Amino acid sequence: MTTTLRYAVFGQPIAHSLSPRIHAMFAAQFGIALDYRAIESSLDAFASTLDAFAREGGAGANVTLPLKQEAARLCTEVTDRARRADSVNTLIRGGDGWRGDSTDGVGFIRDLRDRHHFEPHGKRALLLGAGGAARAVAFALVEADAALTIANRTRERAERLADATRSQVIDWNASVDADAFDLVVHATAAGHGDASFEWPTVPIDAHTLACDLSYGAAAAPFLARAQAAGARTIDGLGMLVEQAAESFAIWHGKTPATDPVYAALRATR
Ligand code: NAP
Repeated sequence: MTTTLRYAVFGQPIAHSLSPRIHAMFAAQFGIALDYRAIESSLDAFASTLDAFAREGGAGANVTLPLKQEAARLCTEVTDRARRADSVNTLIRGGDGWRGDSTDGVGFIRDLRDRHHFEPHGKRALLLGAGGAARAVAFALVEADAALTIANRTRERAERLADATRSQVIDWNASVDADAFDLVVHATAAGHGDASFEWPTVPIDAHTLACDLSYGAAAAPFLARAQAAGARTIDGLGMLVEQAAESFAIWHGKTPATDPVYAALRATR
Protein backbone atom coordinates (compact mmCIF):
# COMPACT_ATOMS: atom_id res chain seq x y z
CA MET A 1 0.00 0.00 0.00
CA THR A 2 1.31 3.51 -0.86
CA THR A 3 1.07 6.05 1.93
CA THR A 4 0.44 9.65 0.94
CA LEU A 5 2.82 11.86 2.87
CA ARG A 6 1.38 15.06 4.37
CA TYR A 7 3.19 18.37 3.95
CA ALA A 8 2.10 22.00 4.04
CA VAL A 9 3.18 25.62 3.81
CA PHE A 10 2.06 27.89 6.65
CA GLY A 11 1.81 31.68 6.43
CA GLN A 12 -0.54 34.66 6.33
CA PRO A 13 -1.63 35.46 3.68
CA ILE A 14 -1.01 32.09 2.00
CA ALA A 15 -3.75 31.58 -0.62
CA HIS A 16 -1.49 32.69 -3.50
CA SER A 17 1.56 30.66 -2.44
CA LEU A 18 3.27 28.84 -5.32
CA SER A 19 4.75 26.22 -2.97
CA PRO A 20 1.97 23.59 -3.39
CA ARG A 21 2.43 23.77 -7.17
CA ILE A 22 6.23 23.61 -6.95
CA HIS A 23 6.23 20.58 -4.62
CA ALA A 24 3.60 18.80 -6.75
CA MET A 25 5.87 19.23 -9.81
CA PHE A 26 8.91 17.98 -7.86
CA ALA A 27 6.98 14.96 -6.53
CA ALA A 28 5.79 14.08 -10.05
CA GLN A 29 9.45 13.79 -11.16
CA PHE A 30 9.87 10.82 -8.79
CA GLY A 31 6.33 9.38 -8.76
CA ILE A 32 5.96 10.33 -5.08
CA ALA A 33 2.37 10.57 -3.79
CA LEU A 34 2.30 13.89 -1.97
CA ASP A 35 -0.37 15.82 -0.10
CA TYR A 36 1.04 19.37 0.18
CA ARG A 37 -1.39 22.13 1.18
CA ALA A 38 -1.32 25.83 1.94
CA ILE A 39 -2.55 26.45 5.49
CA GLU A 40 -3.32 29.98 6.68
CA SER A 41 -2.23 30.77 10.23
CA SER A 42 -1.84 33.93 12.25
CA LEU A 43 1.20 34.31 14.48
CA ASP A 44 -0.92 33.77 17.61
CA ALA A 45 -2.52 30.59 16.28
CA PHE A 46 0.62 29.07 14.78
CA ALA A 47 1.67 26.83 17.71
CA SER A 48 -1.77 25.19 17.94
CA THR A 49 -2.21 24.98 14.14
CA LEU A 50 1.16 23.24 13.83
CA ASP A 51 0.30 20.86 16.71
CA ALA A 52 -2.93 19.91 14.95
CA PHE A 53 -1.01 19.30 11.70
CA ALA A 54 1.43 17.00 13.54
CA ARG A 55 -1.45 15.03 15.11
CA GLU A 56 -2.95 14.56 11.63
CA GLY A 57 0.32 12.99 10.40
CA GLY A 58 2.18 16.04 9.10
CA ALA A 59 5.70 14.94 8.15
CA GLY A 60 7.12 18.31 7.12
CA ALA A 61 6.25 21.91 6.40
CA ASN A 62 7.45 25.14 4.90
CA VAL A 63 6.94 28.38 6.77
CA THR A 64 6.69 31.86 5.32
CA LEU A 65 5.79 35.42 6.39
CA PRO A 66 5.17 36.22 9.24
CA LEU A 67 5.95 32.90 10.97
CA LYS A 68 9.64 32.10 10.38
CA GLN A 69 10.98 33.37 13.72
CA GLU A 70 8.12 31.79 15.63
CA ALA A 71 8.82 28.49 13.79
CA ALA A 72 12.41 28.63 15.07
CA ARG A 73 11.08 28.98 18.62
CA LEU A 74 8.69 26.02 18.25
CA CYS A 75 11.43 23.59 17.17
CA THR A 76 13.10 21.14 19.55
CA GLU A 77 16.23 21.36 17.39
CA VAL A 78 17.47 23.72 14.66
CA THR A 79 20.35 23.49 12.18
CA ASP A 80 23.31 25.86 12.47
CA ARG A 81 22.21 27.86 9.41
CA ALA A 82 18.68 28.29 10.83
CA ARG A 83 20.05 29.34 14.24
CA ARG A 84 22.32 31.93 12.63
CA ALA A 85 19.48 33.34 10.53
CA ASP A 86 17.05 33.10 13.50
CA SER A 87 14.62 31.92 10.87
CA VAL A 88 13.13 28.53 9.98
CA ASN A 89 11.45 27.94 6.61
CA THR A 90 11.59 24.13 6.67
CA LEU A 91 10.19 21.87 9.41
CA ILE A 92 10.93 18.15 9.65
CA ARG A 93 8.91 15.95 12.01
CA GLY A 94 11.03 13.62 14.11
CA GLY A 95 10.02 11.79 17.30
CA ASP A 96 7.78 14.14 19.29
CA GLY A 97 9.06 17.42 17.88
CA TRP A 98 10.04 19.51 14.91
CA ARG A 99 13.55 20.00 13.58
CA GLY A 100 13.99 23.38 11.86
CA ASP A 101 16.17 24.34 8.91
CA SER A 102 16.61 27.41 6.71
CA THR A 103 17.01 26.78 2.98
CA ASP A 104 16.65 30.44 1.88
CA GLY A 105 20.40 31.18 1.83
CA VAL A 106 21.39 28.15 -0.21
CA GLY A 107 18.43 28.72 -2.55
CA PHE A 108 19.48 32.32 -3.13
CA ILE A 109 23.11 31.42 -3.93
CA ARG A 110 22.12 28.53 -6.25
CA ASP A 111 19.82 30.81 -8.22
CA LEU A 112 22.54 33.47 -8.51
CA ARG A 113 25.27 31.06 -9.55
CA ASP A 114 23.48 28.41 -11.59
CA ARG A 115 20.68 30.36 -13.25
CA HIS A 116 22.12 33.87 -13.52
CA HIS A 117 25.85 33.01 -13.73
CA PHE A 118 26.79 35.51 -11.02
CA GLU A 119 29.70 34.43 -8.81
CA PRO A 120 29.60 36.31 -5.45
CA HIS A 121 33.26 35.60 -4.58
CA GLY A 122 35.14 38.92 -4.29
CA LYS A 123 32.09 41.02 -5.28
CA ARG A 124 30.80 44.14 -3.45
CA ALA A 125 27.26 43.47 -2.35
CA LEU A 126 24.64 45.70 -0.70
CA LEU A 127 21.82 44.06 1.24
CA LEU A 128 18.66 46.07 1.93
CA GLY A 129 16.87 44.57 4.95
CA ALA A 130 17.73 42.65 8.11
CA GLY A 131 14.72 40.34 8.59
CA GLY A 132 14.72 36.55 8.34
CA ALA A 133 15.35 36.28 4.58
CA ALA A 134 17.98 39.02 4.70
CA ARG A 135 19.80 37.25 7.54
CA ALA A 136 19.88 33.95 5.61
CA VAL A 137 21.12 35.77 2.49
CA ALA A 138 23.75 37.73 4.48
CA PHE A 139 25.38 34.59 5.90
CA ALA A 140 25.23 32.87 2.50
CA LEU A 141 26.88 35.84 0.73
CA VAL A 142 29.63 36.15 3.33
CA GLU A 143 30.26 32.38 3.16
CA ALA A 144 30.58 32.82 -0.61
CA ASP A 145 33.26 35.49 0.07
CA ALA A 146 31.33 38.58 -1.02
CA ALA A 147 32.20 41.92 0.68
CA LEU A 148 28.89 42.85 2.28
CA THR A 149 27.30 46.19 3.26
CA ILE A 150 23.91 46.18 5.02
CA ALA A 151 21.20 48.85 5.33
CA ASN A 152 17.97 48.43 7.25
CA ARG A 153 15.17 50.83 8.20
CA THR A 154 15.85 49.95 11.86
CA ARG A 155 19.60 50.52 11.97
CA GLU A 156 20.10 48.51 15.17
CA ARG A 157 19.04 45.29 13.38
CA ALA A 158 21.47 46.02 10.54
CA GLU A 159 24.24 46.52 13.12
CA ARG A 160 23.51 43.20 14.83
CA LEU A 161 23.58 41.38 11.51
CA ALA A 162 26.74 43.20 10.43
CA ASP A 163 28.47 42.22 13.70
CA ALA A 164 27.54 38.57 13.15
CA THR A 165 28.71 38.58 9.52
CA ARG A 166 31.65 41.04 9.82
CA SER A 167 29.99 43.38 7.33
CA GLN A 168 29.64 47.16 6.99
CA VAL A 169 26.50 49.18 7.79
CA ILE A 170 25.09 52.28 6.09
CA ASP A 171 22.06 54.35 7.13
CA TRP A 172 18.71 53.57 5.53
CA ASN A 173 18.54 57.13 4.21
CA ALA A 174 22.23 57.37 3.34
CA SER A 175 23.51 58.71 0.06
CA VAL A 176 26.56 56.69 -0.92
CA ASP A 177 29.13 58.13 -3.28
CA ALA A 178 31.45 55.29 -4.36
CA ASP A 179 31.95 52.84 -7.22
CA ALA A 180 28.75 51.03 -8.18
CA PHE A 181 27.92 47.86 -6.25
CA ASP A 182 28.26 44.56 -8.12
CA LEU A 183 25.14 43.21 -6.43
CA VAL A 184 22.21 44.94 -4.69
CA VAL A 185 19.68 42.68 -2.96
CA HIS A 186 16.31 44.00 -1.86
CA ALA A 187 15.20 41.78 1.04
CA THR A 188 12.59 43.88 2.85
CA ALA A 189 8.88 43.11 3.05
CA ALA A 190 8.02 46.69 2.03
CA GLY A 191 6.79 45.78 -1.46
CA HIS A 192 3.98 43.69 0.07
CA GLY A 193 2.38 46.76 1.71
CA ASP A 194 0.49 49.66 0.22
CA ALA A 195 2.78 52.38 1.54
CA SER A 196 5.48 53.72 -0.76
CA PHE A 197 8.95 53.26 0.70
CA GLU A 198 12.43 54.62 0.23
CA TRP A 199 15.85 53.02 0.38
CA PRO A 200 19.38 54.41 0.37
CA THR A 201 20.64 56.30 -2.66
CA VAL A 202 23.41 53.98 -3.79
CA PRO A 203 25.56 53.73 -6.89
CA ILE A 204 24.10 51.30 -9.42
CA ASP A 205 25.16 51.01 -13.05
CA ALA A 206 25.02 48.67 -16.03
CA HIS A 207 27.34 46.11 -14.42
CA THR A 208 25.20 45.88 -11.24
CA LEU A 209 22.96 42.87 -10.72
CA ALA A 210 19.88 44.04 -8.78
CA CYS A 211 17.84 41.30 -7.14
CA ASP A 212 14.49 41.51 -5.38
CA LEU A 213 13.68 38.49 -3.21
CA SER A 214 9.97 38.92 -3.98
CA TYR A 215 8.33 38.50 -7.36
CA GLY A 216 5.29 39.97 -9.11
CA ALA A 217 3.84 43.27 -7.93
CA ALA A 218 5.84 43.25 -4.67
CA ALA A 219 9.13 43.30 -6.61
CA ALA A 220 8.08 45.91 -9.17
CA PRO A 221 9.02 49.21 -7.39
CA PHE A 222 12.61 48.16 -6.57
CA LEU A 223 13.24 46.48 -9.92
CA ALA A 224 11.87 49.49 -11.84
CA ARG A 225 14.23 51.84 -10.01
CA ALA A 226 17.22 49.55 -10.56
CA GLN A 227 16.36 49.17 -14.26
CA ALA A 228 16.11 52.95 -14.61
CA ALA A 229 19.70 53.13 -13.30
CA GLY A 230 20.72 50.63 -16.00
CA ALA A 231 21.12 47.51 -13.82
CA ARG A 232 20.41 43.93 -14.86
CA THR A 233 17.53 42.76 -12.67
CA ILE A 234 16.20 39.47 -11.33
CA ASP A 235 13.27 38.69 -9.06
CA GLY A 236 12.88 36.05 -6.35
CA LEU A 237 11.15 33.36 -8.41
CA GLY A 238 14.36 31.38 -9.00
CA MET A 239 15.28 31.53 -5.30
CA LEU A 240 11.77 30.35 -4.44
CA VAL A 241 12.18 27.25 -6.62
CA GLU A 242 15.73 26.56 -5.35
CA GLN A 243 14.88 26.88 -1.64
CA ALA A 244 11.90 24.57 -2.27
CA ALA A 245 14.18 22.02 -3.97
CA GLU A 246 16.46 22.03 -0.92
CA SER A 247 13.44 21.45 1.38
CA PHE A 248 12.24 18.66 -0.91
CA ALA A 249 15.68 16.99 -0.81
CA ILE A 250 15.71 17.18 3.01
CA TRP A 251 12.26 15.53 3.26
CA HIS A 252 12.51 12.93 0.50
CA GLY A 253 16.25 12.32 0.05
CA LYS A 254 15.95 13.12 -3.69
CA THR A 255 17.12 16.26 -5.49
CA PRO A 256 14.58 17.46 -8.08
CA ALA A 257 15.39 19.16 -11.39
CA THR A 258 14.55 22.83 -10.90
CA ASP A 259 14.83 24.26 -14.43
CA PRO A 260 11.57 22.76 -15.79
CA VAL A 261 9.69 23.90 -12.70
CA TYR A 262 11.15 27.41 -12.94
CA ALA A 263 10.25 27.56 -16.65
CA ALA A 264 6.66 26.44 -15.98
CA LEU A 265 6.17 29.12 -13.31
CA ARG A 266 7.92 31.83 -15.34
CA ALA A 267 5.59 31.13 -18.26
CA THR A 268 2.66 32.19 -16.11
CA ARG A 269 4.14 35.41 -14.64
P1 NAP B 1 10.73 39.84 7.79
O1 NAP B 1 11.58 38.90 8.59
O2 NAP B 1 9.39 40.24 8.33
O3 NAP B 1 11.63 41.17 7.58
C1 NAP B 1 11.05 42.34 7.17
C2 NAP B 1 12.13 43.32 6.68
O4 NAP B 1 11.49 44.30 5.87
C3 NAP B 1 12.86 44.05 7.79
O5 NAP B 1 14.17 44.35 7.38
C4 NAP B 1 12.01 45.36 7.90
O6 NAP B 1 12.73 46.44 8.44
C5 NAP B 1 11.75 45.61 6.43
N1 NAP B 1 10.58 46.44 6.15
C6 NAP B 1 9.26 46.12 6.27
N2 NAP B 1 8.49 47.16 5.86
C7 NAP B 1 9.34 48.14 5.45
C8 NAP B 1 9.16 49.47 4.91
N3 NAP B 1 7.93 49.99 4.71
N4 NAP B 1 10.27 50.18 4.58
C9 NAP B 1 11.50 49.67 4.78
N5 NAP B 1 11.73 48.44 5.29
C10 NAP B 1 10.66 47.68 5.62
O7 NAP B 1 10.48 39.31 6.33
P2 NAP B 1 11.33 38.21 5.51
O8 NAP B 1 10.82 36.86 5.81
O9 NAP B 1 12.77 38.50 5.72
O10 NAP B 1 10.90 38.54 3.99
C11 NAP B 1 11.44 39.67 3.30
C12 NAP B 1 11.09 39.57 1.81
O11 NAP B 1 11.78 38.48 1.21
C13 NAP B 1 9.62 39.36 1.53
O12 NAP B 1 9.27 40.15 0.41
C14 NAP B 1 9.52 37.90 1.17
O13 NAP B 1 8.45 37.63 0.31
C15 NAP B 1 10.85 37.69 0.47
N6 NAP B 1 11.32 36.29 0.50
C16 NAP B 1 11.48 35.62 -0.69
C17 NAP B 1 11.94 34.30 -0.68
C18 NAP B 1 12.10 33.55 -1.98
O14 NAP B 1 12.28 32.34 -1.93
N7 NAP B 1 12.10 34.22 -3.10
C19 NAP B 1 12.24 33.66 0.53
C20 NAP B 1 12.09 34.38 1.70
C21 NAP B 1 11.62 35.69 1.69
P3 NAP B 1 12.68 46.76 10.04
O15 NAP B 1 13.74 45.89 10.67
O16 NAP B 1 12.97 48.22 10.13
O17 NAP B 1 11.28 46.42 10.52
